[in-house]
Amino acid sequence: MSRPGHFKMVLLGESAVGKSSLALRFAKGQYQDHAESTIGAAFLTHTLQIDADTTLKVELWDTAGQERYHSLAPMYYRGAQAALVVYDITNADSLSQAKKWVKELRTANGIDMIIGLAGNKADLATTVNKRKVDAREVAEYADDNQLIFMETSAKRGDNVSEIFMNVARQVAMKQ
Ligand code: GDP
Repeated sequence: MSRPGHFKMVLLGESAVGKSSLALRFAKGQYQDHAESTIGAAFLTHTLQIDADTTLKVELWDTAGQERYHSLAPMYYRGAQAALVVYDITNADSLSQAKKWVKELRTANGIDMIIGLAGNKADLATTVNKRKVDAREVAEYADDNQLIFMETSAKRGDNVSEIFMNVARQVAMKQ
């Protein structure tokens, strides 16, 4: 017998780090090179098979990263069991912004919230001088802050289902 459940998850991070692309790759297995930017927030759902007996429907809120929408963010993360905070490995500022989101989420939702941290655009790491963020340093930061950390590529698909699945598994364990 399957045990249906669902949870709310919010995507946060600076504009253009690849939040919408990760959502599209996760939910539909697709990628678009010139995705339109999200205004306000977009909503999509995807059902995951956690194990033989458990399916979990992820209700994913993709928020706009622009600073002018920042004040709207609490509306989306309030009541969310999980978040995926995204930065771009070729943009050091985007990591600082991601850390601010983590702080804000922990302050608002506490340690119970399952938070994933995605270092996106990992496919660009092979291009000389493109990488601006060291994965080992972020891994340490993630350990200290109880975050599920992976470098991802929405473009190639690397680690996308993995990071969502890891977050969902931890949510399932708490339900
Ligand atoms: P958002 O504003 O955070 O939702 O970012 P988007 O998903 O709109 O992506 C911003 C730009 O980065 C788009 O041109 C994407 O095609 C590109 N992009 C997104 N993910 C990746 C990735 O994994 N690798 C590369 N090389 N580009 C990406």
